[in-house]
Amino acid sequence: MSTRTISILGATGSVGLATLDLIAAADRDAYRIVALTAGTRARELAALALKFRPAFTAIADETAAPVLAEALAGTGLSWGAGSDAVIEAARLDADWTMAAIVGAAGLAPTLAAVARGKTLALANKEALVCAGPLFMQAARASGATVLPVDSEHNAIFQALGGCDASAARRIILTASGGPFRDNSLADMARMRPDDAVAHPVWPMGAKISVDSATMMNKGLEVIEACHLFALPQSQVDVLIHPQSIIHGLVEHVDGGLIAQMGSPDMRTPIAHALGWPDRVETDVARLDLAALGALTFFAPDPQRFPALSLARSAFEAGGASPLVLNAANEVAVDAFLNGHVGFLDIAAIVEDSLAEGEGIARGPLNDFDAVFAADAEARRIALGFATARSAQAAGLAQGGLAR
Ligand code: NAD
Ligand code: MG
Repeated sequence: MSTRTISILGATGSVGLATLDLIAAADRDAYRIVALTAGTRARELAALALKFRPAFTAIADETAAPVLAEALAGTGLSWGAGSDAVIEAARLDADWTMAAIVGAAGLAPTLAAVARGKTLALANKEALVCAGPLFMQAARASGATVLPVDSEHNAIFQALGGCDASAARRIILTASGGPFRDNSLADMARMRPDDAVAHPVWPMGAKISVDSATMMNKGLEVIEACHLFALPQSQVDVLIHPQSIIHGLVEHVDGGLIAQMGSPDMRTPIAHALGWPDRVETDVARLDLAALGALTFFAPDPQRFPALSLARSAFEAGGASPLVLNAANEVAVDAFLNGHVGFLDIAAIVEDSLAEGEGIARGPLNDFDAVFAADAEARRIALGFATARSAQAAGLAQGGLAR
């Protein structure tokens, strides 16, 4: 077997590390690393560079340059710092690229990788949410193969078995329901970042863990699925499945329902994308169905999880609405993780931003410059709402102390 060249964008994250875990377990000559990138955490990135010896290592945070310089001095390893260095890394020729940067920050590097026309394993769902039509058009133009890594979309890709999704009756994304699946709204109002990040089934990065707790993750995934499989959202359903054993289903017109199952471990969908169209071996825990005994399913509750309907409405509204939804959600999740706003404020900030950002949302996104400008404007609006809610919460706390 010839050596495949690999780049990993977002190498220090949950998906990036899971990808490197598979590569480390493979034959020495199976893969050669071209580029590794990260946003921050230069020491961790340097340790990965020393282990995997990529042709180029890039960190987005320019202030981290001295750390990389010191750690990689005398190693012969080439590196760069700043967001342009991350894009430069993505431009280097590699047969297979993992796009695992979190958030809209991943859009520009992921696009640079898509433009090379090779294989892109896509975990960075936010890139598709904010610029789906342009992104898919860029992939068609370059001839790139886009393989879904998000477990639900990867499952659906497998369950389609080469059939065109438009010939299926519908697809179903499963959701664990997150850590607050059974909590009341009053309980949820009190939840802190640590509670939200403690996902019951999947260990993931902080942002997607919070998205999972609000179920915005599933909202983003509905939009992701519509773009990846060219489907209207009326053909994309969501089903809560607490065990997270079935990752996605396709209902064919003949009534057959094909599901893909596996342990909740991202290494399985990543390995599928890495091996495709072949299979690669992993040491992921095998399912013991007899021990599991039962799999359960129920419909999501729109009252407690408004984020899902917000995402569906934004997709239906079209234009830049999904971009506004995504940008506002990123700002709101960040404010929540930093202790500035409460858990229920996240969906409220997104809803307010969608209403206030109607002007941006209506605007067409004809090119990526328009995407980046609209993203910046949507963030400005969302930050205003987050700041107001944070001030309100601080005022309430002070009032409480005075009493
Ligand atoms: P994470 O937070 O663990 O890692 C994110 C990576 O992106 C890190 O390497 C970080 O350094 C890098 N990064 C952050 N900001 C950056 C910036 N401004 N510029 C360049 N790099 C930056 O996130 P994750 O959980 O690995 O998720 C990554 C992506 O994969 C997300 O889009 C997420 O929705 C998607 N995803 C994750 C999982 C999972 O199980 N973790 C499953 C499905 C999809
Ligand atoms: Mg998913």
